[in-house]
Amino acid sequence: MMQTQLTLTTMVRHAEKYFPNKTVISRTLGGVQTIPYRKITERIHRLAGVLKNLGVKKGDKVGTIAWNHHRHLEAYFAIPSIGAVLHTINLRVSPDDLAYIINHAEDKVLLVDEDLFPLLERIKDQISNVEKIIMMTDKDDLPETSLKNVASYESLLQESDPDTALSEDINENDMAGLCYTSGTTGRPKGVVYSHRGIYLHSLALGLKDTAELSEEDTAMPVVPMFHVNAWGIPFAALWFGTTQVLPGPMPTPQILAELIEEHQVTIAAGVPTIWLGLLQALEKGNYDTSSLRCILCGGSAAPKGMIRAFESKYKIPFVHAYGMTETSPIVTLARLKSYQRDLDEEERLELRARQGMVVPGIEIKGVNENREIPHDGEAVGELLVRGPWIADSYYKNDRSEDSFRDGWLHTGDVVNIDEEGSVKIVDRTKDMIKSGGEWISSADLENALMAHEAVFEAAVIAVPDPKWQERPVACVVLKENEKLTEEDMKQFLEPQFAKFWIPDRVLIMDEIPKTSVGKFLKRALRDQVKEQLSLSDPS
Ligand code: ADP
Repeated sequence: MMQTQLTLTTMVRHAEKYFPNKTVISRTLGGVQTIPYRKITERIHRLAGVLKNLGVKKGDKVGTIAWNHHRHLEAYFAIPSIGAVLHTINLRVSPDDLAYIINHAEDKVLLVDEDLFPLLERIKDQISNVEKIIMMTDKDDLPETSLKNVASYESLLQESDPDTALSEDINENDMAGLCYTSGTTGRPKGVVYSHRGIYLHSLALGLKDTAELSEEDTAMPVVPMFHVNAWGIPFAALWFGTTQVLPGPMPTPQILAELIEEHQVTIAAGVPTIWLGLLQALEKGNYDTSSLRCILCGGSAAPKGMIRAFESKYKIPFVHAYGMTETSPIVTLARLKSYQRDLDEEERLELRARQGMVVPGIEIKGVNENREIPHDGEAVGELLVRGPWIADSYYKNDRSEDSFRDGWLHTGDVVNIDEEGSVKIVDRTKDMIKSGGEWISSADLENALMAHEAVFEAAVIAVPDPKWQERPVACVVLKENEKLTEEDMKQFLEPQFAKFWIPDRVLIMDEIPKTSVGKFLKRALRDQVKEQLSLSDPS
């Protein structure tokens, strides 16, 4: 067989040849515009020219601090297509981490949205290496800024050659992307994506049994483009000629509902918090969401109640998926096998709330004390993953060995696997609660609490206990105008769990602290609860 290289330049060439008339709908500060792929690919060549003129060479890192919009999409392809590395930067990290990430990656050029300039201005004295900052703005003039070496994206593109050649000299194993994990402990860790990894992951997104992404779709990645490449959707979508709706700066649930209705979105992807918000918007407003054939939800466990609400009330099929920054990210997806469709509704829902089956191309196993766990839906172990779109180390990081051992990525997620091979995340290794020597899954309790109709969200953590070592405490945020007591919540849980699983306390809160990507920040929650309960720290 031929050894053609699996690179992003192949994707650009394919889109420009076969899908010039398909479109990208892009929301920026200036409004919503529809742009044909013909124009997008031309601008990719122009941006490649701009970067070459700035002296960006093979292997150089180019950072982006940007929302989901067409300019970011152009950067997704132009940077790797000259052999450089697309470094997507999470705009929600602390200033200190932002400076750390830019310095650690050694970004040479930064592409930054106009409204995100203040983030960079705050840390300008802490960053070295950066030679040029390109402001992505719709306006003709550059706004005032204290930063030096700033140029306008649109002016540079205008002056650049639309026929700039993309590089032919790229090996499929070369670095194409770099993304730092938002990690809840320690400094962010960099994950490198190769051209080959992105290419194969994109193909997987097109499989009928995964996201089934195709030319006839209109895809809206709500998951940020700075977060695991918006789950790889922009890459696959441009390649497949899929219409893309990029929802731009700070999209509210109302904006998302409007975009879905107006542009007939067929598949939208994001974390559960986004979909909780959308549900509330749908309840308040009258939106037509009938075009949606799939909501792809991952990043945290999708509560069963939410899946049920989308499917039974709004007739929107809901697909639960699991992955990590280290895994590009798709690892498993919860779809029923053909013969499982005859099960009764509750059983089907139960299966679809699991994280699901591993996608073709990736291998997984659950391991407990060096032994592989049986597929019986009972035994629990840490999930190990390997495959062509799974990272094999962290970028320039000597802590890599903890996570990457014996050819497997050790995910830190505790799972059981059922007879059909469907994975269920029971917890993260560090979030499991051990009470009197018995394990309690915080994820199961959270799921149950969130199924209560008055509950907006819930997180369960371990608190130290002199008798049992650890006991669960639940933190619950109620929906607007709901009034429930601690006792009500406990009574609600009692029929569903063994007695020792029932949290000692159910604290009603206004808000649960979250990470920069909307996951529960359990470390901060533990501190808050500790203070509230005046407990002493066990360590
Ligand atoms: P991502 O960037 O894709 O959210 P992170 O690297 O930030 O990934 O976090 C990955 C972790 O998120 C996983 O190790 C797992 O603990 C959690 N996670 C991801 N998807 C799910 C899911 N569907 N259900 C439960 N936990 C999930």
